[in-house]
Amino acid sequence: MVKILGKVGLLVPALLTGAAWLVILRLKNVPAPLLVVYGLLLAGSVIGLLWPRVLGRRSTRRRVLAFLGVPAGLGTLGLYLAVVYYVTDLPVLLALAAAGCLGWAAGALLRGRRRVSGPHARPTRRAFLLGGAGLVLGVFSGLSVSRVEGRRREMLAQREQQRQAAVRAPGGRRRVTDGVLRVFPIHTGDTIVTYGQFYGGLDGWEGLNGYVRTLVDKAQITVPVYAYLIDHPRHGLLLVDTGVNREQAHDHDGYYDMTSRLLSERDEYQMTPEQDLRVRLARLGYDADEVTTVFLTHVHDDHAGGLRHLPQATVVMDRRDWDHGVFYPHSFDLVKENLSFPAFDSGAFGAFPASQDHFGDGSIVLLPTPGHSPGHMCVLLRMDEGGVLFMGDTLYTLPHLAVDQVRQMTIGGADTVHQIEAARRIQSLLASDPGVVPLFAHDNTRYQSDRVLSAFAQGTPGKEGLRELRAHMETVLTPGWRLRPGHTPRFVPAASGARWGRVEFG
Ligand SMILES: [Zn+2]
Repeated sequence: MVKILGKVGLLVPALLTGAAWLVILRLKNVPAPLLVVYGLLLAGSVIGLLWPRVLGRRSTRRRVLAFLGVPAGLGTLGLYLAVVYYVTDLPVLLALAAAGCLGWAAGALLRGRRRVSGPHARPTRRAFLLGGAGLVLGVFSGLSVSRVEGRRREMLAQREQQRQAAVRAPGGRRRVTDGVLRVFPIHTGDTIVTYGQFYGGLDGWEGLNGYVRTLVDKAQITVPVYAYLIDHPRHGLLLVDTGVNREQAHDHDGYYDMTSRLLSERDEYQMTPEQDLRVRLARLGYDADEVTTVFLTHVHDDHAGGLRHLPQATVVMDRRDWDHGVFYPHSFDLVKENLSFPAFDSGAFGAFPASQDHFGDGSIVLLPTPGHSPGHMCVLLRMDEGGVLFMGDTLYTLPHLAVDQVRQMTIGGADTVHQIEAARRIQSLLASDPGVVPLFAHDNTRYQSDRVLSAFAQGTPGKEGLRELRAHMETVLTPGWRLRPGHTPRFVPAASGARWGRVEFG
């Protein structure tokens, strides 16, 4: 009885680990039929090693090992090398191989000692050979560290050259210092998401189930990642979010630790040299070093990556995200001493029960919109001609304002309730002030590509530009926040040869 319990105690964690590993491989685009065969091999070898007779009357552990265990082990190594391996793993792999050889040698040596008087002198020679191999592998492991670092440095130096060339390319804007407030959308690259994560909140993409689906669902689309620059006559150069950084896009596996590497895709972010935050700022006539304040709508990595380029800036964010949000600490390494947490003690603001008048002059109002993350906030910029509401990820796109018809993935429970509350407060703010326009971080509709980009091309949309954006909104949404015909999103699978599908509105 104890023996059976012990074996079951081994079987359950082994099968769970195997299942998690299969999910990771699926996320890494390993074809499903191959995964089925490999999964059967894995399960067969675990069960066969615990209960050999289950697989046949003449089955023994040795046979299970030879016919299932070894192929499963080789399969694991092959799949790891094909889809997980990154150059920084090399020293670790060599060190593990060295440790294995040395351990084996020590075992052989001990066995040889015991048999030294008998006819078996060979284990000592084997121990010598294995020990030698272990030492050689250990030396290679040590030597590989600097080579690996050198390779990464070389790659990043090449990217740096491309960045500098992009800054110098003709056609940049000359800075105007005329005391006029300007706002510029900054496209810092694109990110892959599953269609359901983006648009499927009302189709079962909620909570844990939603997270698992984001890992294995291959109905993927790419969406833009936007940050926004504010050149403020009184408060200097401000950013709302920072987009992604170059390493996230081009050295993903080097930037992220093993856990993040396993649970994300290598080409999660795409960025051209021109989309580097520093290049975008330089092309607009600014320098990243001049940015004094970053308003971080939330801690997620597609908003915080660019902090690596802004070590001097004060980062204003909701404390709840810092304490309870899911984020990658490395992205905050250079600014973690510069964080500033608003108290949200400036009283109610319209439908929002709390707010923060950041500069005390009403020019920037921070509005808590938890839900997408525990401390998500929206940023309202108020200017003479109207206002701009930076949405962060509270709502991904303009059609998401029709929150009863289009919803992004929600976290479930209270977070979902908060998320919908936040959406309704935003609706109420927009309804009460026709001079305010929403600007999104991931809008993949024509609102962003056709309207916002042209209205803000010079940074000064003016009253007329803001009015036109609102007029466009009214062609998409009714006053009751329903979508008008022609604006309901639909997934279109990838054409042959294309990696990602797209979204059509109809
Ligand atoms: Zn985002």
